[in-house]
Amino acid sequence: MRQLYIGGEWLDAESSEGIEVDSPVTGEVIDTVPSASSQDVRKAVEAARRAQRELEEMTAFERAAVLDEVTEYFEEHEDEIAELITREEGKPLHESYEETEYVIESSDDYAHDAIRLFGDVVPSEFRGRFAYTQREPYGPCAVISPWNFPLEVPGGSIYSAIATANPVVFKPAEETPLTAYHIAKAFEQSSLPDGAFNLITGAGETGAELVGHRDIRLIAFTGSTEVGQQIAKTAAERNAQCLLEMGGKDPILVLDDADVDHAAESIVMGSNWNAGQVCCGTERVITTEGIHDDLVDAVVEKTEALTLGDPFEEGTDVGPMVSERIQRKVKDHVDNAVEQGAQLLTGGGTDGLFYDPAVLDDVTEQMDIATEETFGTVTPVVRVDDYEAAIEIANRSRYGLQAAIFTDSLERAHDAANRLKAGGVFVNETNNYWERLLPFGGYGESGSGGRYGSKWHLEAMTQTKAVMMNYKNY
Ligand code: NAD
Repeated sequence: MRQLYIGGEWLDAESSEGIEVDSPVTGEVIDTVPSASSQDVRKAVEAARRAQRELEEMTAFERAAVLDEVTEYFEEHEDEIAELITREEGKPLHESYEETEYVIESSDDYAHDAIRLFGDVVPSEFRGRFAYTQREPYGPCAVISPWNFPLEVPGGSIYSAIATANPVVFKPAEETPLTAYHIAKAFEQSSLPDGAFNLITGAGETGAELVGHRDIRLIAFTGSTEVGQQIAKTAAERNAQCLLEMGGKDPILVLDDADVDHAAESIVMGSNWNAGQVCCGTERVITTEGIHDDLVDAVVEKTEALTLGDPFEEGTDVGPMVSERIQRKVKDHVDNAVEQGAQLLTGGGTDGLFYDPAVLDDVTEQMDIATEETFGTVTPVVRVDDYEAAIEIANRSRYGLQAAIFTDSLERAHDAANRLKAGGVFVNETNNYWERLLPFGGYGESGSGGRYGSKWHLEAMTQTKAVMMNYKNY
């Protein structure tokens, strides 16, 4: 059984209960991590609280230097970490390397932006007074993350929390807790004060204990909308700050004047990257009448060309899904849509944890697959008469993470960028898109409390203080 990292030490959990970690690649149990009890959670939060002052007294430059040390660890252990991500999550190895690279490269952005988190000098309305603002941390921060990007998703929140002096208690997803041990080791060998980073493992109950602890002042949660909303309710009772990144049902709109081949390529990538298990994956394709048939043919052809298989093999495009629970939901969505009249044009078979990438045509809004997050290798296609109908259907969703439109019309591109209700809109590019200096986050039930990504993330993790000095005319 692994240990917990609390207050700068590796400790046995109080509870002897463990969680077995299965590899979706082989089905074997590859490790066991503790299921942290409320006592373990209390210890970790207490360690974070004790580290607050020392972390705050460090300069932003010193905290940025810690991120550099952490990055050095990731660089030195990159092969080991990328292989572990594939082993515990199931994504193709080249995708795991994209994840490690992203974290290594973006650490510099967090460090760089954190030392430039300037306040304002505010012209006072009274004589003899000097007024300014400064950004300050909230206090102990719970970072709770999902399994689909075990390094990248918690990485951004942990970097920005530490860079802005919020000590962290990190609880990774129970499906993929092993990568988190590398994050803990990276901080252990850095000059971060003891207790400023803590790792506890466990499932939802451990997460709920952490969220419920009164000394946690900031919660950076990434995961499902249902859990995020429960967390927001608990946090509201003591007004703890929440940064929530949750689910999506992201659309790609394809208009008659689009480049069919490029649109199809982007859709197939958007639906199938990480076996479709991406919050901003392509969950709906909304196509106008004139391009529909050509687009669907091209999407089917490219979907059938994907190579499913061992994620460690070079050339594999799609690996296994992370668990039976996730695979079952995908299968149920597709089966129900077919019962309600959708046409399954390709895919839909299962073999172990693999789900054969599917394309569904004639999808309507009455079907769950058109409204609820599926999180798998499925491309549902909704046909509409015209551009206005496409915008209307795209926006008729409780979610609003990212959206994309394929068109040759500059007017339509700008119009859609203004009208689509989503945290990100991309033109002639997949909606399954992010880059280092752009903010990432959702509208509606996809997110709240700020944005992920470099300076946006840092701003979300700090509060503004007003300071006034009466230096002359008392
Ligand atoms: P999940 O909500 O089931 O779990 C996420 C994390 O929350 C896990 O660590 C889990 O143990 C913990 N948790 C569960 N119940 C809890 C509770 N009551 N209190 C506190 N913590 C609790 O999500 P998942 O299945 O791990 O991940 C898939 C979901 O994550 C999808 O909906 C996906 O869209 C979303 N996601 C969103 C983003 C984003 O940036 N918007 C990124 C990745 C994944």
